Amino acid sequence: MNAPSFWSPRIAGLAPYVPGEQPRIEGLVKLNTNENPYPPSARVVDAIAQAAADGLERYPDPESTALREAIAARHGLVPDQVFVGNGSDEVLAHAFFAFFQQAEPLLFPDVTYSFYRVYVQLYGIASELLPVDAGLRIDADALAARAARGCAGVVIANPNAPTGIGLPLAAIERLLAACPSRVVLVDEAYVDFGGESALGLIARHPNLLVVQTLSKSRALAGLRVGFACGQRHLVDALTRVKNSFNSYPLDRLAVAGAIASLADEDWFAQTRLAVMDTREGLVLQLEDLGFEVLPSQANFVFARHPGHDAGALAAALRERAVLVRHFREPRVAQYLRISIGTRAQCGALVEALAAILQ
Ligand code: PMP
Repeated sequence: MNAPSFWSPRIAGLAPYVPGEQPRIEGLVKLNTNENPYPPSARVVDAIAQAAADGLERYPDPESTALREAIAARHGLVPDQVFVGNGSDEVLAHAFFAFFQQAEPLLFPDVTYSFYRVYVQLYGIASELLPVDAGLRIDADALAARAARGCAGVVIANPNAPTGIGLPLAAIERLLAACPSRVVLVDEAYVDFGGESALGLIARHPNLLVVQTLSKSRALAGLRVGFACGQRHLVDALTRVKNSFNSYPLDRLAVAGAIASLADEDWFAQTRLAVMDTREGLVLQLEDLGFEVLPSQANFVFARHPGHDAGALAAALRERAVLVRHFREPRVAQYLRISIGTRAQCGALVEALAAILQ
């Protein structure tokens, strides 16, 4: 396609992120976008209804103070150490803009959340991708050694996507020590499903930014709430970017729903456990079918079958109304990323796979 002459020159060269499809198909088993298969806490819906009935004619609080207070209280921080945004994707984008436009390259693994490459392109950030090992594990020592030679910063998803493999906190600490004058961004979108959070390291590390989301473990992908935690000077930078972009990224309904969700610890504990428990069962069943499954600390598994092409498997599953994610990208093209559904959904997936593999 010829770029319309109206476009800014950079736009034609962008390769935007492609989210997993959201088709409206009756009875679909949807295991392709790492959503939580359970509905959110009932308290969320009540709080949103209340908020909808009261005050929508007025703008929301531009700083989302009540939500930042709730997040800070839950994680032993103060509100000035918390930044919130319209999904963690927006928070990540602001962080890339705020911290990584430097002379040296930004470092991240070659197999990771593919949005990082998009932000780098969007903002014209120089980057260097460090190869994961043959088991698709991040080599944290190689990353730290490279970071020590000078970089714009480091981005790590922990647990990583789309592998689900977690890094121990000791490895994160080595990275933080390797480039004390640059930001190390730890994207913890999936940390509540068995990973180790770096939030506790914030007090000791002025260069640590931890990003989390309510989309996965709080089952609020549709509400769009993400946040970043770090020392105040980092949050101040994010706030400057946000206030140069959109004063009100979080609406009244999102703030009310998010606060109510954070208050429901019982729902949170039960749902996380259900997802993790279902994951362990699914791993065993996939292995029984001959799949090799990477060790996952997330709400998805990354698996390949030595005897079957992953693209063909994904297509065959789709014909049976089961959606999983397949990335036609180097190194991971023979893997399927399967989100952890309810027990019934995972059962349907295993049944469909068994029929296909026969
Ligand atoms: N980080 C990672 C690693 C993800 O997989 C996702 C979900 N696609 C996000 C961030 C963004 O999630 P959200 O914008 O829904 O908070």
